[in-house]
Amino acid sequence: MARKFFVGGNWKCNGTTEEVKKIVTTLNEAEVPSEDVVEVVVSPPFVFLPFVKSLLRPDFHVAAQNCWVRKGGAFTGEVSAEMLVNLGIPWVILGHSERRALLNESNEFVGDKVAYALSQGLKVIACIGETLEQRESGSTMAVVAAQTKAIAEKVTNWDNVVLAYEPVWAIGTGKVATPAQAQEVHCELRKWVHDNVGAEVAAKVRIIYGGSVNGANCKELAGQPDVDGFLVGGASLKPEFVDIIKSAT
Ligand code: PEP
Repeated sequence: MARKFFVGGNWKCNGTTEEVKKIVTTLNEAEVPSEDVVEVVVSPPFVFLPFVKSLLRPDFHVAAQNCWVRKGGAFTGEVSAEMLVNLGIPWVILGHSERRALLNESNEFVGDKVAYALSQGLKVIACIGETLEQRESGSTMAVVAAQTKAIAEKVTNWDNVVLAYEPVWAIGTGKVATPAQAQEVHCELRKWVHDNVGAEVAAKVRIIYGGSVNGANCKELAGQPDVDGFLVGGASLKPEFVDIIKSAT
């Protein structure tokens, strides 16, 4: 089954109004494959979301980098899924390793967030991935399976979920997984989904790779059969993000 290539840009906690305008101008002027071939979603910080949405070309979409686990209310500093829907923000990134590590987001909490965001009509980029210590101790697949299981236990419809495999040791480090390493985990993960969720979901769920993807290494990674796209951090702030989008073809 053909899975549409997906390229997400996670801008993290970066940008000024001027910088954001510059990035959007580069994206708007880029010649890239059509929306039928590649789905492009950029994720600015919350404060820039409506601004970016209003400036961005219509074939590219926006994502929030997080949202609250339940209905909004007395949760100072949080942004609810309902608010994102109200603003016409279609996507949200959940379970990013920086939030898991720095803000102690557990597998269960991320699973709850994914389920709630989906229930409100958001599409979710759900991040999973092992630390270097976990990889070196041989537990990569056990870690990734436990993170996916916590999501799978609470999600019944996977149509609006993209799984982002992001080995923590490759995020922002310049150490990219080799195409073989990425393919190995993506293939195992798809098998896990096949065995624990179902054959149909396994065939159609997009599993994207994140971790130091750039204009130079994207093409070979994109050539792997189970790599359905990328979640890009640092390079999504630079013009080379356009080259990464082009790696779809
Ligand atoms: C990320 O933060 O999701 C990421 C993959 O970052 P980087 O591309 O900078 O490693």
